[in-house]
Amino acid sequence: MANVRYHVSLRSLTHVFQDSRRALTALADVALDVAWGQFLTVIGPSGCGKSTLLRIIGGLLRPSEGEVLIDGAAPVESQRRRDIGLVFQDPALLPWRTVLSNVRLPLEIDHGARDRTAPSPEELLELTGLADFHSYYPHELSGGMQQRVAIARALAFDPSLLLMDEPFGALDEITRSAMRYELLRIWSAGGGAPSGAEGRPTRRPHKTVVFVTHSIPEAIALSDRVVVLSPRPGTVRAAIDIELPRPRTQEMERTAPFLDYADQLRNLLKEAPA
Ligand code: ADP
Ligand code: MG
Repeated sequence: MANVRYHVSLRSLTHVFQDSRRALTALADVALDVAWGQFLTVIGPSGCGKSTLLRIIGGLLRPSEGEVLIDGAAPVESQRRRDIGLVFQDPALLPWRTVLSNVRLPLEIDHGARDRTAPSPEELLELTGLADFHSYYPHELSGGMQQRVAIARALAFDPSLLLMDEPFGALDEITRSAMRYELLRIWSAGGGAPSGAEGRPTRRPHKTVVFVTHSIPEAIALSDRVVVLSPRPGTVRAAIDIELPRPRTQEMERTAPFLDYADQLRNLLKEAPA
């Protein structure tokens, strides 16, 4: 398994939404590699195909053309092994279940699939700072807390790949900027998934994350690498390595290197509208 160089590899990816009346090209000729354990963010204007891209990587949508490899195989393979965790803007919790029982839900639906080494739902609540709220119902939690539950639930099978589509997009600005550091803490503490299907002990330093946002500071603060998409049809306009030290802190957002990255991204995002 370690001989697969990239965790995620996309080649010549094009997606056209077609119905009886029209064809809409959402993504055009996208190429992208995501290294094992990398935190990669895709940024681009609304409607440029970010969610489409993430759904294709997650095996929820088949691309019209091109190749998608996750750990060297089709996304459905990773999906079958429960090796992909998904978090969307809407936490989509079941209102009649407590926090703990929402986090347990994937395991109840699919008993056999949990790796022996996966953390228990209780451990996931500890990791996401929810231990004291295990018996709360979703409506009793703030938006940020609800999104933590969604993150804990996405980690139930200890996936090696986490796909996040604007997970903090519905939160107020203060909560949103705190949540990015909370996510980094969880990412650092959560460890990598076992690399072998048989639970071989080789552990990677981190889970691989593909994160979608249209917030520039969020992209910089979180990422090892930021990929900028053009307006629809989305193509890769640039990829920028963020060489800020880790752990990242909120104070870093005011430093010159951070602000330089922000300028660079802002220019790339406004260049040559389609
Ligand atoms: P983003 O997440 O970057 O805002 P999306 O990937 O959601 O963009 O959408 C890209 C384009 O594809 C948009 O023009 C959107 O209207 C269109 N689109 C998305 N999903 C569908 C669908 N199921 N059927 C038809 N068009 C779609
Ligand atoms: Mg979207």
